[in-house]
Amino acid sequence: MLRCNDYIFAESLDEAYALNRKKSAAIVGGCGWLKLGSRQWGSVIDLSRLGLDKITETDEAFTIGAMVTLRDIEKHEGLNAYTNGAIKESVRHIVGTQFRNTVTVGGSIFGRFGFSDVLTVFMVTDSFVELYKGGVIPLHEFAKLHYDDDILVNVIVKKNPLKMAYSSFRNQQTDFPVLTFAHAFREDGAFSVIGARPSRAELKRDEENILKDIFSKSQDEVIEAINAYALWISSQYTYESNLRASADYRRHIAEVLARRTVTAIVDKG
Ligand SMILES: Cc1cc2nc3c(=O)[nH]c(=O)nc-3n(C[C@H](O)[C@H](O)[C@H](O)COP(=O)(O)OP(=O)(O)OC[C@H]3O[C@@H](n4cnc5c(N)ncnc54)[C@H](O)[C@@H]3O)c2cc1C
Repeated sequence: MLRCNDYIFAESLDEAYALNRKKSAAIVGGCGWLKLGSRQWGSVIDLSRLGLDKITETDEAFTIGAMVTLRDIEKHEGLNAYTNGAIKESVRHIVGTQFRNTVTVGGSIFGRFGFSDVLTVFMVTDSFVELYKGGVIPLHEFAKLHYDDDILVNVIVKKNPLKMAYSSFRNQQTDFPVLTFAHAFREDGAFSVIGARPSRAELKRDEENILKDIFSKSQDEVIEAINAYALWISSQYTYESNLRASADYRRHIAEVLARRTVTAIVDKG
């Protein structure tokens, strides 16, 4: 249950930021995660009256407000057309429709949860976070930062041409993932993100150019390259054990998901 002395609807980001500077204050998104804690907050600051619940699409980018829900991104035609349905695939296992109707992109990205499907899928695109004080920084860099009292205002996904796919492995539907995997062929290279290891998602580039020219190779060469890539990319991360899976199992799943996900993209052409 969420416990606080004051629940404040901020009238501006300036006000929200000033209020959030106190150690006893917290910004609230959809409150899905926050309400699980037992802490008594001084002030809880609600951003829902600041118009941050919109997805704006231009020729250059999608700008996703912090209060946009996971259900909104799941259903957004433009975002899903651009990501080949990867956004929908990444969130569809998260608890249930009613839950996804309330929890937010802002809370999901600012939370930088190790298990996050949302962080994994956005990170493989050319994406940025817009912070009230910190300005616009690449999402993969933001994911490495410590928590502070800044406010996530928007997530920005640049519309550079890409081919991408997302997959996750769960012990059972709607549970937290054992492993998350996203891959994108972008103009600046081939990129993968592996998350839920169980530590936070991290972006890696195909530095060895294993997948170079994959779309013009013969079937046998494609299989060989994807197998080599799956082995290589899964070896670039560290894995740990928790109650869902051992480190060794995660490493094995990473190789399997890498092979399947990259194959799915290449098969589509
Ligand atoms: C039971 C359960 C199962 C889940 N399963 C999954 C899963 O399988 N995969 C997955 O990816 N996610 C999962 N999640 C996480 C979920 O999808 C959301 O990411 C999570 O609830 C946080 O979003 P929220 O809107 O509820 O944020 P809140 O709970 O409101 O906030 C989360 C944190 O972010 C801060 N915050 C919120 N918005 C902002 C902002 N704009 N600026 C700065 N700080 C902010 C809050 O102060 C708080 O510290 C699960 C959550 C729960 C409770």
